[in-house]
Amino acid sequence: MLKELSKLYALQQVDTEIGRLEQEQANLKRGEEMQKRVHSLKSSLGEMESRLRTLDAASQDKKHELQRLFEQYEEGEQRLDSDGELDITEVTNIRAYLDSVAEKQRRTSLEIQKIEAQRTRLKGEIEEKRTVLAETQAELEEVLAYEAEERARLEEELEEQRETRARLAQQIAPPALKRYERTRKHCANLAIVQVEEDVCPGCRMVLTPYLVRQLREGTGVQDCPNCRRILYWPGGDLEIVDKVTLITRRR
Ligand SMILES: [Zn+2]
Repeated sequence: MLKELSKLYALQQVDTEIGRLEQEQANLKRGEEMQKRVHSLKSSLGEMESRLRTLDAASQDKKHELQRLFEQYEEGEQRLDSDGELDITEVTNIRAYLDSVAEKQRRTSLEIQKIEAQRTRLKGEIEEKRTVLAETQAELEEVLAYEAEERARLEEELEEQRETRARLAQQIAPPALKRYERTRKHCANLAIVQVEEDVCPGCRMVLTPYLVRQLREGTGVQDCPNCRRILYWPGGDLEIVDKVTLITRRR
């Protein structure tokens, strides 16, 4: 295991790079979010356009109604004008009828004005929404093109890294590889930590002088007593940690 450690450490560096690239891939989701936005804009626009069609129909109905009322009024007036033989009651009745028709005309005109105001407002809102939709769609196309390029680049890099990983893994004894994979699962993807002083870089715990001596002498694979990560001391006795320094640092 000990002689596999430097190879495992190199493998871990590749795994870290693979993880970073995969994260970058996962972060490419702006296009997806914008597609959802385009979809929601379209559906809201469709709903507004259907509301406008309802208003158009209502406006047409009211205009026809107003036309009928004008015709009724004219007929009434003609009866008053043409017929000289009307008695006073008939004249009064026709006048009352004309008043009621005029009142209906007034109300219908007001309703038409109200509907027209709503149509104008809605048309303006639809125009605005169409502009936003067109802008969003144009931006979406750019974002999708950029993301496609990025995805291709990341996929290429990942492919390279995965090939490197497979090559490295082949050179490592299976039990050591297994131990690495197991530790990695339990230690947030960081199984091996390179000890440079007397502290575990994984959890910042100060290592005992005894442990540091064992690492330095390279007597076996040592785990951090706190986080269980595999401690890697490259170069064996490259670094001499003297006891006095260790005690001072721990204070
Ligand atoms: Zn630790």
